Amino acid sequence: MPDETLTAEFLTQLKNCVAAKACFTDPSDCYAYGYDNSRNHQLPHAVVLPNDEEQIQKIISLCNKHKIALTVRGRGTGTAGGSVPLRRGVVLSTENMTEIINIDPDNRVATVQPGVLNQTLQDALAKHQLFWAPDPTSAAFCSIGGNLAINSAGPRAVKYGTTRDNVLGLHAITGNGMKIKTGVRTTKGVVGYDLTRLIVGSEGTLAVITQAHLKLLPLPESKATSQIFYKDIESATNAITKVMAQPISPCALEFIDSACLDIIRQHTNEPIPPAAKALLMIDVDGNPETIKAATHAITESVQNNGLIELNTADSKAEIEKIWKTRKVLSPALRTIAPKKINEDVVVPVSEIPALIKQLQMISDKYSIPIVNFGHAGNGNIHTNLLLDETNRIQANNAQACLNDVFELVLKLNGTLSGEHGVGIEKRDYVGREIDNNTLNLMRQIKTQFDPNNILNPDKMFPLIKE
Ligand SMILES: Cc1cc2nc3c(=O)[nH]c(=O)nc-3n(C[C@H](O)[C@H](O)[C@H](O)COP(=O)(O)OP(=O)(O)OC[C@H]3O[C@@H](n4cnc5c(N)ncnc54)[C@H](O)[C@@H]3O)c2cc1C
Repeated sequence: MPDETLTAEFLTQLKNCVAAKACFTDPSDCYAYGYDNSRNHQLPHAVVLPNDEEQIQKIISLCNKHKIALTVRGRGTGTAGGSVPLRRGVVLSTENMTEIINIDPDNRVATVQPGVLNQTLQDALAKHQLFWAPDPTSAAFCSIGGNLAINSAGPRAVKYGTTRDNVLGLHAITGNGMKIKTGVRTTKGVVGYDLTRLIVGSEGTLAVITQAHLKLLPLPESKATSQIFYKDIESATNAITKVMAQPISPCALEFIDSACLDIIRQHTNEPIPPAAKALLMIDVDGNPETIKAATHAITESVQNNGLIELNTADSKAEIEKIWKTRKVLSPALRTIAPKKINEDVVVPVSEIPALIKQLQMISDKYSIPIVNFGHAGNGNIHTNLLLDETNRIQANNAQACLNDVFELVLKLNGTLSGEHGVGIEKRDYVGREIDNNTLNLMRQIKTQFDPNNILNPDKMFPLIKE
């Protein structure tokens, strides 16, 4: 990969694009802007912290003129390497663009700068009895710009959709420095191509998002959570299909497998029945009457011979206690297996039983423990290959094991990533899911937005050998 060293002249001009002290080049200052939660790292030559759209436009125009790679960064919580500056160049961090420009309760729209943290927005909206649906577990640390660029989502996606379903319009600067406004400020609108949905999920490769109009929803009055333990995986996965086939939409439907339950047992004092081999956590929301009816409907649909224990909570404290078991998982898995491979595959909900069963066979074949949990209502399962760094057999088998996992997912009509994005991590596998004609069209779209390929180069698509 070429390492574009920046000239003194370029750096002077770059510094002139932003306020004093908002551009730095000392490696010790730049270091932290070189990695994300994928644990990949590349040191940028320069980091800029613009305050507004005009400054972003100047930075992009300058980088475009000099053909310098520009990587936009929200808060670096991405898990696919999206904000890692592979060609070094310039990192543009949106951390100074944290203004909630407007909250318009009458029209249920919020307008924000890209650096606003998801949780900061949710807190501001709650004062108006509103919320923005995307709820990644990282809400307290991740930016709205990052949510938009990855099309992030959390447990609520099963009822309220992903980021893409909850954004009305954008301001953005393309790779050739052109300011564009996409979408609408209304909840209906059909004029022109839908560039909003194209830019959402484009992982910083087409344009830098400088402002977003977000669709808001009324906060539900209350919530209830059911915690359902099963004696085997099949009973739990069959119940998932049943829940999704009945008319009440849960606002979360999470699945946790047997190995994950063991990890929760080791890391918390939560009372988990000894015979339990799988857990479903199902949330419903609404007003107290609809909650009652919804809980009843869900409780009916999860019944089968494998059900061991069903608990329902409707107070905030009890609900939080139940969710603690789910939230402890990711950090615990990272402690147990620091080199774990964490995939976020998706299959049609009806294929979850087949997925889980065949993942076990792949795990046995390669002697690599695979543990699964996640957003089962969307068929989005976090599949973790728990690699032991000291085990050479596992190290040798890891790639083949991952290949088999992806092959299985595609065979079941699934997709390789439901929320983490492609970045560097899945770039080489994209050609398995997307055919050549479609990939070529996508590359042509990239060229239209970013003719000199300066925005986040070498991401999202398989590399073309030059
Ligand atoms: C503990 C933990 C839990 C997580 N849980 C979830 C989860 O439940 N669901 C989920 O979906 N993800 C989850 N994630 C992943 C991550 O938090 C999300 O992908 C998040 O949206 C990234 O936001 P960020 O601000 O950190 O973006 P970054 O990591 O900085 O960037 C991500 C991508 O967005 C691009 N980008 C950032 N800002 C802009 C912009 N203004 N314009 C254009 N492109 C931009 C970057 O170039 C990069 O490609 C989790 C991560 C962690 C560490």
